[in-house]
Amino acid sequence: MAEEYKNFIGGEWVKSKSNKTFENRNPADTSDLVGTFQLSSRDDVDAAVTAAQAAFPNWRDTPAPERADYMYRVANKLRERKEEIAKLMTREMGKVIAETRGDMQEGIDTADFAAGEGRRMHGQTVPSELRNKAAYVIHRPMGVWWLITPWNFPIAIPTWKTFPAITTGNTIVIKPATDTPACTAKLMEILDSAGIPKGVINYVTGSGRIVGEHLINHPDIKGISFTGSSEVGKRIAEVTGKTLKRCSLELGGKNAQIVMADANLELALDGALWGAFGTTGQRCTATSRIIVQEGVHDEFLAELVKRAKALKVGNGLDESVEMGPLVSKAQQETVASYVKIGLEEDKAELVCGGHALTDGDCAKGFFFEPTIFDKVTPDMRIAQEEIFGPVLSILTVKSLDEAIEVLNGTVYGLSSSIYTQDVNSAMRAIERIEAGITYVNGPTIGAECHLPFGGVKETGNGHREGGWTAYEIFTEMKTVYIDYSGKLQRAQIDNK
Ligand code: NAP
Ligand code: MG
Repeated sequence: MAEEYKNFIGGEWVKSKSNKTFENRNPADTSDLVGTFQLSSRDDVDAAVTAAQAAFPNWRDTPAPERADYMYRVANKLRERKEEIAKLMTREMGKVIAETRGDMQEGIDTADFAAGEGRRMHGQTVPSELRNKAAYVIHRPMGVWWLITPWNFPIAIPTWKTFPAITTGNTIVIKPATDTPACTAKLMEILDSAGIPKGVINYVTGSGRIVGEHLINHPDIKGISFTGSSEVGKRIAEVTGKTLKRCSLELGGKNAQIVMADANLELALDGALWGAFGTTGQRCTATSRIIVQEGVHDEFLAELVKRAKALKVGNGLDESVEMGPLVSKAQQETVASYVKIGLEEDKAELVCGGHALTDGDCAKGFFFEPTIFDKVTPDMRIAQEEIFGPVLSILTVKSLDEAIEVLNGTVYGLSSSIYTQDVNSAMRAIERIEAGITYVNGPTIGAECHLPFGGVKETGNGHREGGWTAYEIFTEMKTVYIDYSGKLQRAQIDNK
């Protein structure tokens, strides 16, 4: 019998008032039931907000270094359970075990960073323009945050949001994606066993369209942190725009890797393969376009196709497998529909893959071949729209200027990369690429947790989760003036 997971509200594991549950199955083998989960109702999420609101004053008043102490314990518990949860993650999400270990490591690193950050929480002290007066800035907690996460990083993304949110003194309600609720439940177990007071962290599962949408409007929710599709992100921005509630949005991408003719091609090939087909192309930073300078196109493509065809696809629990399944049937169908769109586009040429894998053990899940289209032009849909699967488009350009123009020619701006050995080209690309992240001689994937993460244009709304900037998102800035002159001093008045 698979485990029945419950919601975590006010420090207790409880069933949904709806009495309904949903199943979560392994996308590599749908006969493997990972668990059943609560199909929460609006009443359940309201109860979670009430618990989080009740826990807030005491947590707010707990000194930040004391809050951060919990994070040391959380980091150690994540370390102890790394292998167990990595295996569960591969079963629930599909990505290969080496990557789910990496996802866990990102959570551990994020906890370590939070543990240190609680002892810093820098404000700023600046001189006042008047005598006998002090001026400084502090960061204050806000209240209850609503955290909504996607399925592609089932531990890393929940930790990116939860750890800075609670270290800065907020309380939270988190709703994981319906495809990956088990890992977040394990994260709650770990936070709870580290002794975090009841009500500070609350976890509910259920439909984003129903409970997700409901809480966006809740008067006791002070902020929303969302990672997911641009479509849902725009909806959240529209609703929160009416109440001016803070929201931090990390959305889609259509990331490109530029390969200049002077690049170390061996390195560029390694980067392209990992960037495009790692996590089965289901990273927000996945490489979905290669922009290659003419002259090296033929050599680069021939070798890339050879290596993509050789990738071992299968169940990610097998250590020798290099690419797992897509997360769901719906995702597999989306990828197939984009291959069809690519085939119908004027001149695009399918040079590798293009089909769902249905032979042998692959028939048990949602597998797809590594797929490459050549002769793609910038206006084609496969060059413009986020596919979120193992589909790579090759675009050929004449110059660096053209490469940057093509790279910038989508509505998104998350990650980007350039392979070149010419420092002048690299510096020009760093300045002119419109993206939140640019790698030089590295693939578009591989962010580190202590640096700001996020994108420009329709990838987000200007916030950067990850790094120290996350600590600004989850706090309200307060400017403090202390006048110790004993008399009324008037600023902004010309006293001279
Ligand atoms: P999604 O459909 O937008 O779902 C994300 C989360 O939002 C899920 O928990 C979902 O719940 C919930 N949700 C759905 N409709 C909602 C609504 N109306 N109101 C509130 N919440 C709602 O995205 P996804 O398919 O899970 O993830 C893939 C997308 O995420 C891609 O576009 C990818 O680029 C993006 N992503 C971005 C980043 C980044 O940092 N920029 C990182 C990872 C992924 P249900 O699961 O119940 O539907
Ligand atoms: Mg699943």
